[in-house]
Amino acid sequence: MKTAKRIRGLPPYLFAEIDKKIAKAKAAGVDVISLGMGDPDRPTPHHIVESLKSAADDPKTHRYPVYQGTLAFRQAVANWYGKSRGVELDPVSEVVALIGSKEGLAHISQCYVDPGDYNLVPAPGYPVYGIGTTLAGGEVYPMPLLASNRFLPDLDAIPVDVANRAKLMFLNYPNNPTGAVAPREFFADVVAFAREYDIIVCHDAAYSEVAFDGYRPLTFLEIDGAKEVGIEFHSLSKTYNMTGWRLGWAAGHPQVIEALARIKSNIDSGVFTAVQHAGIAALEGPQDCVTTMQRVYAERRDAVVEGLRELGWNIEKPQATIYVWVPVPQGYTATEFASLVLEETGVVITPGVGYGEYGEGYCRISLCVEKERIMMALKRWKDAGIKYC
Ligand SMILES: *Cc1c(COP(=O)(O)O)cnc(C)c1O
Repeated sequence: MKTAKRIRGLPPYLFAEIDKKIAKAKAAGVDVISLGMGDPDRPTPHHIVESLKSAADDPKTHRYPVYQGTLAFRQAVANWYGKSRGVELDPVSEVVALIGSKEGLAHISQCYVDPGDYNLVPAPGYPVYGIGTTLAGGEVYPMPLLASNRFLPDLDAIPVDVANRAKLMFLNYPNNPTGAVAPREFFADVVAFAREYDIIVCHDAAYSEVAFDGYRPLTFLEIDGAKEVGIEFHSLSKTYNMTGWRLGWAAGHPQVIEALARIKSNIDSGVFTAVQHAGIAALEGPQDCVTTMQRVYAERRDAVVEGLRELGWNIEKPQATIYVWVPVPQGYTATEFASLVLEETGVVITPGVGYGEYGEGYCRISLCVEKERIMMALKRWKDAGIKYC
């Protein structure tokens, strides 16, 4: 059975090699500590689960959903932007519900990219931006995120002929995998750049609420002129521990939202209505669960960073996200270091090259296990003599 060229170009599952090693360690009886996955370990808050239960009891939720999302859910999204960021949105024309934001990030290229067109894609970055581009027949132009520029792309480094042929620019702040955040001036430059070259900005704000020490990440839509040049993807996954529920949205420029909704309505049939009810409960219910989430990750982040500092790493505490982006000691590639750590200490971390060549030299530590396990992981590193040099 010969597969299409399209699928032959897809990378195999990125972490297949590491997964094999994890399975081997587990089979040998090692108590594996996984700091690999970016998947919140705490349960979805109780009131959100209860909302799903009662909504699922109502037969009205059992039929095909409204494709672009129920008006009530889209209204809740518009209210959330208004209340939390002072952004006004028309729920009818400027918001579409997504089956998780990953789905929309994959499909947006289908709306705008013809073969030969470029998309500007952060590197390292969440893989779906580039995969969606390739599946649409487009070319990925990587925008390197380097420590020397605080992990922001250098817009001046993008060649004019590339900018002229580019359709979409993907951005993601707070950033996975680097943990970096973006200042207002950067986003303002992005708006000007997008205007100049007629590029649609697709900002992935999955971590806009996962921030610490009183820091409040900007969303793209609150920047002057942003709604005229782009859209923002958002998700309930990280804010409310709802990765398994598959609920997100895109909001912003009405023409872009319309195009995305049109592609989607031809491919999928929307999010289960009861899940949208639960999404409303999340956005409009008590927000102390968000404060708790922030406190829990901040404590874990502190445990990781302080533990690493004791082992010679000179790193800053990220202000947001569930990741710490850690340079690997000299003499190792990212993959070699991740393998060494797994073999010597039973701790799983993600080699940065999993996020593209510009991730070489780093590993990503995620904060999705309890603080005690994180401390145990770092104690094992210390005992095994793993340190930064
Ligand atoms: C987790 C994550 C998302 C959320 O994806 P969903 O499909 O909404 O679960 C989006 N973007 C990035 C960068 C992420 O890390």
